[in-house]
Amino acid sequence: MLKKYFNIKEFYLTILLISGISKGLSFEIDHIEPPFWWSGFENKNLQLMIHGDNISKLQPKIPYKGIKIKKIHIADSPNYLFIDLFIEKDKPKQFTINFYDKKKKVLSYDYELLKRKEYHNKQNLNSADVIYLITPDRYANGDRSNDNIDHLFEKVNRMNKDGRHGGDIKGIIDHLDYINDMGFTQIWLNPVLENNQTNYSYHGYSTTDYYNIDARYGSNKLYKKLSLEAKKRDIGLIKDLVLNHIGSGHWWMNDLPTIDWLNYQDNYVQTNHIHETVYDPHLPQSQKNLFTDGWFVQTMPDLNQKNPFVATYLEQVTIWWIEYAELSSLRIDTYPYIDKDFLSKWSKRVIEEFPDFNFFGEAWLNDPTMVSYWQKGSKPYDDFQSYIPSMKDFPLQKFLIQGLTTKHSWNSGIGDIYRILASDFQYGDPYNLVIFPDNHDMQRVYSLLNEKMDLFKMAISFIATTRGIPQIYYGTEIAMTSTEDHGELRKDFPGGWDNDKINAFIGSGLNPIQLEAKNYIKTLLNWRKSNNAITQGKLIHYPVTHGIYVYFRIYKNEKVMVIMNNQENKKILEFDLYHEILLKKRKGIDIINGNNYNLSESIELKPKSILILELE
Ligand code: CA
Repeated sequence: MLKKYFNIKEFYLTILLISGISKGLSFEIDHIEPPFWWSGFENKNLQLMIHGDNISKLQPKIPYKGIKIKKIHIADSPNYLFIDLFIEKDKPKQFTINFYDKKKKVLSYDYELLKRKEYHNKQNLNSADVIYLITPDRYANGDRSNDNIDHLFEKVNRMNKDGRHGGDIKGIIDHLDYINDMGFTQIWLNPVLENNQTNYSYHGYSTTDYYNIDARYGSNKLYKKLSLEAKKRDIGLIKDLVLNHIGSGHWWMNDLPTIDWLNYQDNYVQTNHIHETVYDPHLPQSQKNLFTDGWFVQTMPDLNQKNPFVATYLEQVTIWWIEYAELSSLRIDTYPYIDKDFLSKWSKRVIEEFPDFNFFGEAWLNDPTMVSYWQKGSKPYDDFQSYIPSMKDFPLQKFLIQGLTTKHSWNSGIGDIYRILASDFQYGDPYNLVIFPDNHDMQRVYSLLNEKMDLFKMAISFIATTRGIPQIYYGTEIAMTSTEDHGELRKDFPGGWDNDKINAFIGSGLNPIQLEAKNYIKTLLNWRKSNNAITQGKLIHYPVTHGIYVYFRIYKNEKVMVIMNNQENKKILEFDLYHEILLKKRKGIDIINGNNYNLSESIELKPKSILILELE
């Protein structure tokens, strides 16, 4: 008996169910992943994971000659089949996979090979960009009808700071013009794949389905629409992907494919969260793999990327999303927690298919020695080979805040910023690091700087003008405050919900401090967009003297000079020292207010101030 229901690309999970009966035994397919694929990739291999009752007892066959079944693997669970396909005729095609019980055809599935797009995404992340990081549940509720979804456990509750608040993809699409006006050119969303956990699911880092957007945010189709609508405004879309672990509510957890799909599959062991153990030469054996193999927390089972089926699955899901949603970049969560050998192969595979794709990992370490280890082009102490072009620059964030909030002396204060940048020699490409004053895991920068507007402007201006790709967390543009509590620092963006008294999108109800922050950032980022010295130029900086930090960005004949005075009192700056860089440039125009400075004379610096001068 053959019974076929649907083969629909969107929502395939909730709809896909193919069932059949042979000799009294029932068979089903509830998942085929990837759900479809493309012709035109460098790598012509494709491994399908098929799940359904008793599926391993059936024999798959493909009557179409252009697709060859290279190998069929059964797993430890009888409900999985892995089929290695080789794409011989590399062109778009829908073909049928038939499943036989001896000679009887029991099930069949129409699989689609789509045409790959010409690959070059002009929105690919680069140092001319400024990234806007959004926690989607907390930004704007554009569609109240998806606040609660029957088949997803957690329902909306804005009274719970750790609960779901209803923000969604529609809410972001609705405010793309605002994002564009502010000067942001990339959007990074915290993960939006399904997180069907019973509670604390809004943050998105507990994936329960790698191929479906969480229905409370929208759908795969709507996510792609966001990407295309953003692209119309020259804005790229960055996907946050978690390859280290899944959520305990992942559908695999009811029926794991193999006995080693997870690390510590039968006996829970937590990671020690000590990043340094990855590099430490003095460790005893028992501590060596604890960091990477232990679980992040009990609700986040740790994937075993040493299992080749897990590895292939994660490689394919990465490529699938870049191609499907025309992504401009990826941000990979908890990068050093992932198996190193896997990361090496995985990053190589991404680059093979998307040669100019620029993507970055998260390694929350304060030492450039350890962060640089992961970036392509750095020289690691061992034979590790990485192909990931960028990393998040955590050391710079820490030293920026520390530098601005401690008193100047020969080894403290603003000199910390100089000193950390002096360590750039360790990075494969320091200009390609993602730099930030805060993010979704740390206290809001305005609060870190003790709610001092002058320090806030210094921090934001520094991030917008030093080397690297700036990232600003939503709400920082209106100087949002917070404690360290996650629910608190990911507060709802004012104006994102009906009846909000304050609407930051249109600027109504903002207090003078919020307005000042917003206008400042808007001016700064829009200026940055078209300044070649900042977006492509070399960084030259001087060691800090008398609490003043001076640096230049230089591209051909275009020069920008930045002067940071972190002293409590005003200072006089003489320009003699800088003549080797200034050369014939004698005029500086303040990019915020247009004021002119004559650089042949000394100038007076306000206490706790930053001056960004375009030189002429
Ligand atoms: Ca909603």
